[in-house]
Order: sequence, then C-alpha cells, then structure tokens
Amino acid sequence: MSVLVVGSVAFDSVETPFGKRDDVLGGSATYFAAAASLLTKVSVVGVVGEDFPLDALDFLRKRGVDLDGLEKVRGKTFRWKGRYGFDLNSAETLDTQLNVFEQFAPRLGPKACKAERIFLGNIDPELQMRVLDQVERPRLVCADTMNYWIASRRPQLLKVLARVDVLMVNDGEVRQLAGESNVIKAAQAAQRMGAKAVVVKRGEYGALLVTSEHNFFAPAFPLADVRDPTGAGDTFNGVLAVRLAAGETLDVAVRVAAAAASLSVAEVGARAGMPDAAAIEAALQLA
Ligand code: AMP
Repeated sequence: MSVLVVGSVAFDSVETPFGKRDDVLGGSATYFAAAASLLTKVSVVGVVGEDFPLDALDFLRKRGVDLDGLEKVRGKTFRWKGRYGFDLNSAETLDTQLNVFEQFAPRLGPKACKAERIFLGNIDPELQMRVLDQVERPRLVCADTMNYWIASRRPQLLKVLARVDVLMVNDGEVRQLAGESNVIKAAQAAQRMGAKAVVVKRGEYGALLVTSEHNFFAPAFPLADVRDPTGAGDTFNGVLAVRLAAGETLDVAVRVAAAAASLSVAEVGARAGMPDAAAIEAALQLA
C-alpha cells in the first residue's frame, strides 16, 4: 500500500507566545509525509526553489519516501509566516509567498499515475485538480485546504470537493467554506458540497466526523506541554489517510488521528514531533 501526496514544501517562520523560529522546514506535504511514512510508503509531488537544501529531506528518504515527484526549479521556495495566539489552537497567517508554486505544473510519472490513494494536501486547488486529473483510477481521495485558498480559489475548490472522499479541515476553515458559524451545520453543508465525509480538526478539543449517515466525535489526547502546533493538522491528515487506506472505518481512523495529532504538538518541528505507531497506540490505551 502507498499514498501519493501533493502539497507545499516550505520554509516556515513561526511565532508563539513562547518563542520564535525562522525559516524552518515545513509545508503540508512535508508534515504529511513525515507522519504517513511512519506507517506506509509515501510519494511526494511538489516543488522547491534553488534555495532549498535537499538534504533537509534525508530523514524522509531514509524512511523510504519517494521524492522523485519533488521538482527543484529556479526561483525561491514557498514561504509561510504565521503566529499562534495564547491558546495555541489556530494560526494567523502573517505572510504567504507562493514563489515557485506560482508557475508549478505537476506532471506525474507513470507509477504516480497508477496511485490508488491520494492526499491532496493544502495547496492551490488548481494544482490539486491537475494531480487528480492525471491519476487513472483513484480509490481513495482525501483533501485539505485553508482560508487562503477558500477565499482566493473558491470555484476551483468546489470542483475538487466534488471528487473528494474525505475532506479534512479545521473549524475556522469549515465555517468559512460553508458561511455558517455552527461547526456541525458547517460540516454538514461542506459535505453536501460534494465530499462524501468531512472531518473537522478542532485542536485541543479533538475532531468531528460528519457523513450523510452519521456524526462522530473523537477526543484529543490531554496534553500539558504544547511546544509547536505547526503541522498538527497535517499529522492528523497523514495518520487518517493511512488508516483509511488500510481499510479501517472512519470512526476508528479519526480516533487514532486525533491522538497522533495531539502527540505531534509536544515537540518542535516536522521531524522530532512525529509520533510513531507505538506511541500512538500507547496514547490510545490511556485515552
Ligand atoms: P498545519 O498542519 O495545518 O499546521 O499546516 C502547516 C503547514 O501549512 C505549514 O508548514 C505551512 O508551510 C503550510 N502552509 C501555510 N499556508 C499555506 C498555503 N496557503 N498553501 C499551502 N501550504 C501552506
């Protein structure tokens, strides 16, 4: 089993009330691959600029992540600057520089075109669609997005949604997408927009699943020391997508993903912060 992911590979500058770090490795595809590769084989589709040190991804390569679909081109790598408030639950974007993603036209190799499980990570919905269009017979399509794209690429995003099995967004995003303040109503509205299931990531409050048949709520793992919330959403996505790909039910997969995302915020960065399968199982025993 393997999962194909398209998303950002980035330099992040992140401020929290407890510290600040500049130009650290980030991006939706990076965090997704860091989480999912602990459980299965992952192939990454994306782009970086000439300022990107490819050896920063050696830890993924060592875990068997296929980076053949990651292009290095002239120009600057995607950059995101964000700030977390005192509750550390949601990030405020201070700056987004698309850079090499502005001109990126992903072309999948013959193996990638045969992928059966796809994760459309947070990136321009136009690019998500281009990847989806090249995959011959996807059996499971999961997707994420964020306020930036909901505001600037709504029509393209709605087209993608019609082809998605599971949409994984946070509460602010689902409210914005649906134009509805109640999270359950917003998730139901997003589900009617096309995704078969909608999973709403609610940070320290866990996660909500909405399908046309049922709703389900999974708690977060209670944590006293939160060090770095960046990437928690993509860790959640990685674990959820892999568990679904392995044939687990949505309810079980959401429960495991919520525990994994909680653990990921206890450490800083895409690398150190990733809980392995044993740590996730141990957390679930305690939950
Ligand atoms: P999350 O898992 O939701 O915390 O996502 C964190 C990652 O999203 C960061 O490492 C950022 O580089 C990346 N990111 C932020 N804004 C965007 C955007 N507009 N498009 C794609 N990726 C983004």
